[in-house]
Amino acid sequence: MLPLSEQAPEPPRMVDPAPGEEQKIEHTLRPKILAHFVGQAHIKEPLIISIAAAKKRNEPMEHVLLYGNPGLGKTTLAHIIAHEMDAGVTVTAGPALERVGDLAAIVSNLKRGDVLFIDEIHRLHKTIEEVLYAAMEDYALDIVVGKGPSARTLRMPLEPFTLIGATTKLNLLSNPLRDRFGHVYHLNFYEPQDIETIIRRNASLLNVMIDDAAAVLIAERSRKTPRVANRLLKRIRDYADVRHDGHITEQITNDGLGMLHIDKHGLDAVDRKILSTIIQKFNGGPVGLNTLAAAVAEEMDTVETVYEPYLLQLGMIDRTPRGRVVTPRAHEHIKMMHSAV
Ligand code: ADP
Repeated sequence: MLPLSEQAPEPPRMVDPAPGEEQKIEHTLRPKILAHFVGQAHIKEPLIISIAAAKKRNEPMEHVLLYGNPGLGKTTLAHIIAHEMDAGVTVTAGPALERVGDLAAIVSNLKRGDVLFIDEIHRLHKTIEEVLYAAMEDYALDIVVGKGPSARTLRMPLEPFTLIGATTKLNLLSNPLRDRFGHVYHLNFYEPQDIETIIRRNASLLNVMIDDAAAVLIAERSRKTPRVANRLLKRIRDYADVRHDGHITEQITNDGLGMLHIDKHGLDAVDRKILSTIIQKFNGGPVGLNTLAAAVAEEMDTVETVYEPYLLQLGMIDRTPRGRVVTPRAHEHIKMMHSAV
């Protein structure tokens, strides 16, 4: 049996949680209007109605909560909503708001109808979250001044705005916060044909020729996730530029995917390390998330939010009350990958 690391040097990650230095191209590829946002019809249809209704009444839209795995389009959708509402957008994230004053500074600067996008909203401090309640419900900021018996609460009115919260972990959101959102939408993994559409559109935005079979192949390996599809497309484009004439063919795609160690399910070296570790070190499981993350030398949060959801979706692992277990499908896959080496 091969050692867990599969001995190869670590290839670049396709499913990293942070967009990193590729952010600029990401920005070019990000759809700006709802008509270009592919798939997720269960969200788009009600959104079209809500946006039209709010515009007709000349009111901001009710607050929107978007939840789903990384790279499925929460940030994109938040910007699209602002754009469709002809509204300005201010972007922040739960961990970036350290003090009540940070939130107060942001919300007091919002203009009527603006969108405030808070990414990773499950990571807001409790005290800040409590200030957000009145801001969301009454468009007011309650600020406590003074201490002890002379403390008073000052209420400062705010312009009506729309809060769009995004989270990968709905279960970590408190009920009072959740209840203050008028719309709660779950972003699903994408259908293969939707990912193909995204790849074709982005190839044309990047001015790259791509054969149909190549688009299908990249879509199959993209973990049903647009961000991964974009990354793969860019890496295969590099490969096609260097090893060919820039045209992405099926052969070039196959070779490029091989170089990136992406297997036929779209799993990368870290996914396979997770599966091999459960099989070899923990006898197939169950193993707790903590222990597993330490054994594969990854952050627990990365394993849980970046890798595990797709492995669960593929039916390669199961969550049990005693921890994670691999399924027969994972055993077969790892065996096949090892015999192919
Ligand atoms: P999240 O905020 O959920 O992590 P993003 O909104 O940053 O995901 O999406 C990552 C990238 O994937 C975007 O820059 C965009 O190019 C692409 N993308 C996401 N959803 C869609 C979609 N429905 N249609 C087309 N491209 C999409």
